[in-house]
Amino acid sequence: MAKDMRKYQCKICGYIYDPAKGDPAHGFPAGTSFEDIPDSWRCPLCGVTKADFAPMEEVPAAAEPEEDYLVKVVGKTMLTSDIVHLQCQAVIPETIPLEPGAWMLFHMPPTDYCPEGVARPFSVASDCRDKTRVDFIIRRNPKGICTRWIFEDMNLGDAVVLKGPNGTFRLSNSGREAIFIAGGSGLSAIRSLLFQLLSLGPAAPKTTLYFGATNRANLYMTDFLYALEHVLPNFRFVPSLSRPEPTDNWTGKSGNITVTVGEECGDCSQKEAYLCGSPGMLDACIQVLTSHGMPENHIFYDKFSS
Ligand SMILES: Cc1cc2nc3c(=O)[nH]c(=O)nc-3n(C[C@H](O)[C@H](O)[C@H](O)COP(=O)(O)OP(=O)(O)OC[C@H]3O[C@@H](n4cnc5c(N)ncnc54)[C@H](O)[C@@H]3O)c2cc1C
Repeated sequence: MAKDMRKYQCKICGYIYDPAKGDPAHGFPAGTSFEDIPDSWRCPLCGVTKADFAPMEEVPAAAEPEEDYLVKVVGKTMLTSDIVHLQCQAVIPETIPLEPGAWMLFHMPPTDYCPEGVARPFSVASDCRDKTRVDFIIRRNPKGICTRWIFEDMNLGDAVVLKGPNGTFRLSNSGREAIFIAGGSGLSAIRSLLFQLLSLGPAAPKTTLYFGATNRANLYMTDFLYALEHVLPNFRFVPSLSRPEPTDNWTGKSGNITVTVGEECGDCSQKEAYLCGSPGMLDACIQVLTSHGMPENHIFYDKFSS
């Protein structure tokens, strides 16, 4: 059978894999078809997996982020040993057309450990009613390039170039009861949706947020999340620890986030869900929700795919 020699495009950053050129820098010479590249290959520009590529003609033009934004780092706070809260102020232009659930591409300039520089996607974690600033919640990837730069080299006052905003992760506005599920740095996109619920006030749909972490030291922003229960009458926050330490004196839900959701979610046929975190966590949660009757088209997610 003839090889598929179509060009494939990254749905995240717009990079085009052209079989006529291949990706010689990563060992794939000119003439290598997209299907002959192993699944371990990553987008050379933004680092996502092959699953985030589609034949070029099938990628909507709107998926390509267009605008550059110059921002200044005005806050950098460690939330856990490997998760940072980054606060940025828009400089040029002075506002960013932010939408809750969107992500932006960070452009890392050339460094001695990566002379060509890279771009990586991170979800907006702030209140998008304020277009003059944008926050991110970022987990360090132990072998990662861009997160090394963010954690080790980025300082307050630094200028950073962001592209976007982009993505299709949005509240459906159906009014259905909602289940939010976040793992690790996945609270980022969920946090921007929580601010949107806040803007709806008492009209916000009934919502439960399940936030999974290994132990107490890896749970963060809990004051904000518990405070939401007081402001939004229909909101409930359920943290779940998979491996609480004895010193945590943990009396809340214990177990993997999927177990806690499965125990609590009941009949999901009329509910919808918003998920954000690692691909493994998301796949397991989708299985639990659908086994409780949630239609697949009621499940919205942002997969942190590398
Ligand atoms: C839409 C979207 C939103 C996201 N939002 C967030 C967020 O809000 N917070 C957050 O913490 N994360 C988020 N992520 C995940 C984040 O973008 C990735 O974890 C990113 O890879 C981190 O960048 P890095 O340069 O540090 O790691 P990378 O350098 O990309 O490394 C990641 C892993 O891939 C491997 N790798 C890298 N390049 C290659 C290659 N060419 N071939 C084979 N293997 C390779 C590395 O060895 C490492 O194990 C998001 C991802 C997506 C797609």
